[in-house]
Amino acid sequence: MAHANLSALCRPNLRIAVIGGGVVGLAVAAQLAQRGAQVLVFERNSTLGSETSARNSGVVHAGLYYPTGSAKARLCVQGRDHLAHLIASGKVAGRMVGKLIVAVDDAQLPALQALSAQAQANGTQPLMLLDSAELHARAPQVRGVAALWSAGTGIVDPHSLVQWYRRVAEHGGAELLLRHRVVAVLRAAHGWQLSVEQPDSSMTVLDCDAVVNAAGLLADRVARLACSHPALPVHHFVKGNYFELQGPAPADCLVYPLPMPHLLGLGTHLTLDLAGQARLGPDTALAESDHDYRVDPGLGAQFLAAASSFLCGLQADQLRPAFAGIRPKLATDHAADFYIAEESASGASGWVNLLGIESPGLTASWAIGEEVATILSIN
Ligand SMILES: Cc1cc2nc3c(=O)[nH]c(=O)nc-3n(C[C@H](O)[C@H](O)[C@H](O)COP(=O)(O)OP(=O)(O)OC[C@H]3O[C@@H](n4cnc5c(N)ncnc54)[C@H](O)[C@@H]3O)c2cc1C
Repeated sequence: MAHANLSALCRPNLRIAVIGGGVVGLAVAAQLAQRGAQVLVFERNSTLGSETSARNSGVVHAGLYYPTGSAKARLCVQGRDHLAHLIASGKVAGRMVGKLIVAVDDAQLPALQALSAQAQANGTQPLMLLDSAELHARAPQVRGVAALWSAGTGIVDPHSLVQWYRRVAEHGGAELLLRHRVVAVLRAAHGWQLSVEQPDSSMTVLDCDAVVNAAGLLADRVARLACSHPALPVHHFVKGNYFELQGPAPADCLVYPLPMPHLLGLGTHLTLDLAGQARLGPDTALAESDHDYRVDPGLGAQFLAAASSFLCGLQADQLRPAFAGIRPKLATDHAADFYIAEESASGASGWVNLLGIESPGLTASWAIGEEVATILSIN
């Protein structure tokens, strides 16, 4: 991992700066470096992938929910296929454990059918509708009258994915600079000039041909260092808390309720990690802060009630506060799409913004990297 002096790296062939060393910035760096671009990644923290990329459900989404034709649907399905391949070949730690989406009563059956149709339109395969007997045989502790079974859903260790992208990026010659924070941006004659705060707090200036803004929660602010136009989105922070479930997991797969239109997420669900630890979450709560990760133990009763609608036999004393993550949402009244754009129309050609990269950003990361390479015509 490089902690290099930036001035030593300012060589003529330096081309593309990536701001942010989360899973998305690293996937972009890996894709660009693999294609022969000279890539420099700036990460303000002392480790890679320590923000949202470390604070999520770690689900490899199959792409069921998103409107057909949206960037989320397209990039999720493409990214899932790549991630499933990395997992199958042992390059990244994960397991395709499958997922149930449960209709808890007959009134929810039309919504389950509609989700099944949406998933098929998105190219999500394989999918199976289970009746109550089949659901009970598959997962005896799950309560419901029917379910959709997505065998193409899995779990991944996000840290392992971050490290895989790091290795691919470094193999392609990318330089990864930790504790380097981009603080200002200027348009230069043939690209961009970044002012970067180094680990010793001194500043340095770097010229590059293009910039990819993958700054996660703060990407909307970083975007405004370079460009400003009325359609440039703003992030709304929506916190997601998790509670661990003590004792044996109630199912050996992921279990989700049907998404409620009024919720900003998919509804509190049952997830597993690779060690078999069961978790409930994430909930959705509008937040002021981009870094308040405390979990209020008092939320346990809400989690118990939400999960008990589709899981039998849960007890309050099984729940322990775990961790929280924060979503960068582009809207709070509807599910907005990813914003992935080179800002040429506002005079910022060579500047690519990645905004609103909430779920399924982990799953879609490799495909987002590919999209950026296409936008920048780096083949
Ligand atoms: C609760 C929750 C659950 C989720 N569950 C899933 C899931 O199950 N499956 C899935 O596919 N997706 C999931 N996601 C989404 C996924 O976690 C994110 O889309 C993904 O991690 C975003 O990665 P990122 O690289 O864009 O952001 P980050 O990981 O936040 O990385 C951005 C980086 O930019 C750096 N940075 C910011 N400003 C600067 C600067 N000025 N200079 C230098 N560096 C800077 C930050 O330090 C940070 O490391 C979930 C998200 C949340 C919040």
